[in-house]
Amino acid sequence: MTSEIIYVNEKSEIPLSGVDFIGVIDRGTNVIEVKPLTLCNLNCKYCFVSAGDYTTNFIVDPNFLLSKIKDIIKIKGNYKIEIHFAPYGEILLYPGLIDLIKELWNIEGVEVISLQTNGLLLNEEIIKKLEKYKVTRINISLNSLNQKKAMFLSNCEKYNVKSLLKSILLLLKTQIDVLIAPVWFPGENDKDIEDIIKFVLNLRNKGFSQKEIQIGIQKYLIYKTGRRLKKIRPKSWDYFYKQLSVMEKKFGIKLKLGPRDFGIHKREIGASLNIQKNDHVRLKIISKGRWKREFIGKLNDNFGIKVLLNKPILHPEHLIGNYIETKIIKANYKDNILTASFSI
Ligand code: SF4
Repeated sequence: MTSEIIYVNEKSEIPLSGVDFIGVIDRGTNVIEVKPLTLCNLNCKYCFVSAGDYTTNFIVDPNFLLSKIKDIIKIKGNYKIEIHFAPYGEILLYPGLIDLIKELWNIEGVEVISLQTNGLLLNEEIIKKLEKYKVTRINISLNSLNQKKAMFLSNCEKYNVKSLLKSILLLLKTQIDVLIAPVWFPGENDKDIEDIIKFVLNLRNKGFSQKEIQIGIQKYLIYKTGRRLKKIRPKSWDYFYKQLSVMEKKFGIKLKLGPRDFGIHKREIGASLNIQKNDHVRLKIISKGRWKREFIGKLNDNFGIKVLLNKPILHPEHLIGNYIETKIIKANYKDNILTASFSI
């Protein structure tokens, strides 16, 4: 599918806070989550953000991101900051990644730079670069060691488990820590999760430390706008943690990881908004969103907002630049992510 790409920079007027799919997310901790792009090389059957098939994609200018991150760090304090790249897409497709990492290390207080990836684009050359620019940790979403199952889940015939495992071994030879983060789909990859645990244990038996190779099993979650695996029903959090306990005993490995395991702690929130659900807000539409019904509105220089139309319109570009009355339908106060609706 062909899609348009919007480059977000200072001139584009799109603020880097408030919109879940691009920019910077500040959840009031020492971790600053960065989402520099929405492109993905996969189209996973379970993707909770439906990446890989957006009508419009976004790439954010690294300098624009950098200045935003610097502003947030000034408020949080220059110590124990983690920059975590976690896009709605694949971070290794971001052209500005290495330059941005280089600049981030020049900010006083940045102690950890981590990134989430599906790992398929890793190769010797990229790993060397990531090592050179001192990436601290790479989280790899690997859901099965079985070639067929991995191809099925990722919806990709070119998915190559062998070469991904080779990349993981190469990463382990560097100073970069690796966290394997499989999603557990109950009834679909139960055995695969156990195989991944055994794979990690085997590496630890070979001498890699618990910090060098970690495993963080993720719960399968379903979102309205995400894709879902047919016939697979997510279990409750209770059931999920009980199962982790069972496997912890069975394999003698710690599987329940919390914020403390990653040095995450509470810190000042960069900036916040005082907008509640059901409020009516007048705002300017400044850009299309990822889909025909989605737009980005501007609340102020700091905050953007996702605006959803009740139905798609033929010429969405006609709405851009207009001021409209919207109703807030979702306000996530913890991280200042907002969604508004607009009826036409
Ligand atoms: S799950 Fe990750 S790798 Fe798969 S399509 Fe979504 S963003 Fe891309």
